Amino acid sequence: MEKLTIKDIDVKGKKCLVRCDFNVPVKSGKITDETRIMGALPTIKYLMEQGAKVILCSHLGRPFNIFNATIDRKKIKPADAEKTDDQLRQETMEKCSLEIVANRLNELLDNKVTFVNDVVGEEAEKAVNACKEGECVLLQNLRFYKEETKNDQAFAEKLARFGDVYVSDAFGTVHRAHASTAGVVQYGYIKTAVAGFLIEKELNVMGKAIEEPRRPFVAILGGAKVSDKIGVISNLIEKVDTLIIGGGMAYTFFKAKGWNVGNSLCELDKVDLANDLMEKAKAKGVNLLLPIDTVCADKFDNDANRMVSAGGVPDNWEGVDIGPETVKLFTNALKGAQTIVWNGPMGVFEMPNFAVGTKAIAAALAESDAITIIGGGDSAAAVTQLGFASKMTHISTGGGASLELLEGKVLPGIECLNNK
Ligand code: AMP
Repeated sequence: MEKLTIKDIDVKGKKCLVRCDFNVPVKSGKITDETRIMGALPTIKYLMEQGAKVILCSHLGRPFNIFNATIDRKKIKPADAEKTDDQLRQETMEKCSLEIVANRLNELLDNKVTFVNDVVGEEAEKAVNACKEGECVLLQNLRFYKEETKNDQAFAEKLARFGDVYVSDAFGTVHRAHASTAGVVQYGYIKTAVAGFLIEKELNVMGKAIEEPRRPFVAILGGAKVSDKIGVISNLIEKVDTLIIGGGMAYTFFKAKGWNVGNSLCELDKVDLANDLMEKAKAKGVNLLLPIDTVCADKFDNDANRMVSAGGVPDNWEGVDIGPETVKLFTNALKGAQTIVWNGPMGVFEMPNFAVGTKAIAAALAESDAITIIGGGDSAAAVTQLGFASKMTHISTGGGASLELLEGKVLPGIECLNNK
């Protein structure tokens, strides 16, 4: 990897400001999935063992800017319009405080974590100054300040006081130029900026697979819309040997081929683009595969009447999954592949009756000897939900960030790190 990592520098006695992704789901005061906390532990433990003073920061949920003097009411939902600033502050604190994460971290790290209900103020400064080597401080939710997402320079300067060294380990937010993900380094306040183990893995596995793939390289793209994945398709068409398109986005390609789409998802304004992409694939010698049969439902409901149609989707039906012949076509195309990247489900996998195609693809990846990489978001959820997670080479921890990496974009939170 071309970026420095925590292993490349001496952190002993240094304050390490670590941007983590502790954006965990919380329901009724309980963390319902602690994958992200577990994912952050190797970096945190390593820094503690090396005698660093570890200052952790993260966001959680979509809070109001409760530490600002007045709450920015522009984003308030109609249901909250009548609530006072104090009520909103209290509700935000209940839903989005990182204290719950600090409590869990303390169970995992021998009570060495101090939580501070403050981000850049005096309280935070006191806690950071009191932090000893081998200990941690977890700051309160960064997004309690609106300056965080605005990448406000003064806010970044205050936050940067807490780091002799900056460690980027929140892959889920590296595609954002926020104060804590890029600003503290971009503005020149922290000079030593390195990747933690999570980022290192994402770049070494996913970054490398795309840039220097072992061939044959097959990409499988699915999900709801072509418009969400234009960048990914355009970038991958330049690199892959085979491009498989399934899921809701396939029907825009159906339309481009002159096939019927019935009531399926279809973006009429993207039909020309679908044609261009098919032309481009042809010109480049990329094997572009589309579904040849479709599981159709008479309504968007797991218990709807179903039928399989070859070719297009009949009127009054909608495509909800790839059909059995398509499963054969797609899984055959995966045979012999050396690198497989998958982003987006093949059907409405949240409904068990329409998860068959997605499950078959997940199973084929699980059995494959190829390097198998699952772009984050729904495909990661599908693979995990279907029980194949442990069989994949890598499941990306970032939804938007992994999409942008697949699009070949420069990610601000990685760009700002020191080169080797
Ligand atoms: P994305 O976030 O773009 O990867 O899209 C994931 C979503 O696409 C999931 O919620 C799926 O239910 C949905 N999806 C996949 N296939 C279809 C389809 N044939 N019709 C409607 N939605 C679909």
